[in-house]
Amino acid sequence: MTMQSINPFSGETIREYDEYSSAEVEQIIANVDHAFHLWKLTSFEQRAACMKNLQAKLLEKKEELAGIMVAEMGKVKREAIGEIEKCAWVCSFYAENAESFLDNEPIKTEASESYISYQPIGTVLAVMPWNFPFWQVFRFLAPALMAGNTGVLKHASNVSDCALAIEQLVREAGFPENVFRTLLIGSSAVKAVIENPKIKAVTLTGSTPAGKSVASAAGSVLKKSVLELGGSDPYLILEDADLEMAARLCVTSRLLNAGQSCIGAKRFIVADKIYDQFKSEFVRLMNEAKFGDPLDPQTTIGPLARVDLRDELHQQVWESRELGAIVLIGGYIPDGIAPFYPPTVLENVLPGMPAYHEELFGPVAVLFRVSSEDEAIRIANDTVFGLGAGVFTADIAKGKMLAEKGLQAGCVFVNDFVKSDPRLPFGGVKESGYGRELSAIGIREFVNVKTVVVK
Ligand code: NAP
Repeated sequence: MTMQSINPFSGETIREYDEYSSAEVEQIIANVDHAFHLWKLTSFEQRAACMKNLQAKLLEKKEELAGIMVAEMGKVKREAIGEIEKCAWVCSFYAENAESFLDNEPIKTEASESYISYQPIGTVLAVMPWNFPFWQVFRFLAPALMAGNTGVLKHASNVSDCALAIEQLVREAGFPENVFRTLLIGSSAVKAVIENPKIKAVTLTGSTPAGKSVASAAGSVLKKSVLELGGSDPYLILEDADLEMAARLCVTSRLLNAGQSCIGAKRFIVADKIYDQFKSEFVRLMNEAKFGDPLDPQTTIGPLARVDLRDELHQQVWESRELGAIVLIGGYIPDGIAPFYPPTVLENVLPGMPAYHEELFGPVAVLFRVSSEDEAIRIANDTVFGLGAGVFTADIAKGKMLAEKGLQAGCVFVNDFVKSDPRLPFGGVKESGYGRELSAIGIREFVNVKTVVVK
């Protein structure tokens, strides 16, 4: 099978790759497993030196690396550069903190000594999506390698250039050969990789159906999995909220990466009293967004990554409209070959419509008018997803209470939009997945939490 990288803005085929054969995949995994048995013996200092080199390489080559992303999936250049800088941050974060996160933890018992020791487990498979083609990989790679594990990457089939560039960067940073390798394979080859005895665990970032498939394959051979899946993040705008700030931050989050973000704000649940005011400011700001060439500094949103993804999004909008949703702005397919989708705002969205239940992976926002906080929470939680959520209110105590006890989500931000941060755990509940990435908790997902007792 052939994998194609297509520039979504120009429609040109950038490159075609033949998928690796199963014999090639097995050989690479054997090499990575071999590398693990040496890498696990290295000190944190040695690993951190390589990780710091990787950080430096990312910063040195950020223009070039951002260009690969822009070409393969249409991200606007400014955001692509920010993504590379964030990857550099996660490298330095784990270079500096991995040792303390994985230090032995003494526990008081009747024995003369008892403690927890965190040990690497081997080669971990990472199945990754195209939407943040560097960041998603680095937030796995940095903690995994610092913990003493090795990794193989199966990236999304439309971003093979990004996948190979990451493999090359790791090499150039001075990591030993085969500590991290890319497998150019399609999704149908993933099950066999998971079943390979040399693979010890799997992490997937992607859609909920892909997560279910990978979790089943991992479960059938009793291997641990971490799943970072889709989201339909609700934002509550309470009647005491700073409206101008709420509208601005909600629009920023909804339009980031042309709306193709798992933690993009997607549903806006607004108190009746301020609904009309919020709606008019929100629609005004959505309308200001300029879609166009992702290399043009004036562009705020680039094309969606693939034509099929744009058409699927339009279908969700169209079906919702047929069922009675009101399209305030957008909701059409612009002329031209690039898969653009205009900023779109829907209201009167009800259960039974795709826009009510499904993830909208593009610049489409849904507004709900509610008459009480109970109703707001009910609508916010009336979803299979549970990734992020937001609350805008002047009453911080209430915001914290809703964040802690009201909203079913893995991360809730009060008076801001949800962002991933190396220092904070990241992940979801319900069908948004399980396990956590980033922070001390993320690095401990793929280690043997070993109890040692000395009588
Ligand atoms: P996707 O279609 O699920 O693909 C993600 C990865 O999984 C790709 O490498 C894909 O390979 C592979 N894959 C797909 N089906 C598979 C299967 N049945 N078995 C094994 N592997 C499979 O998702 P996407 O379209 O790339 O990304 C968008 C989705 O990712 C959205 O739902 C978004 O919310 C979610 N996401 C979540 C997070 C998070 O942290 N929670 C972050 C970013 C994105 P192929 O490309 O070869 O099909």
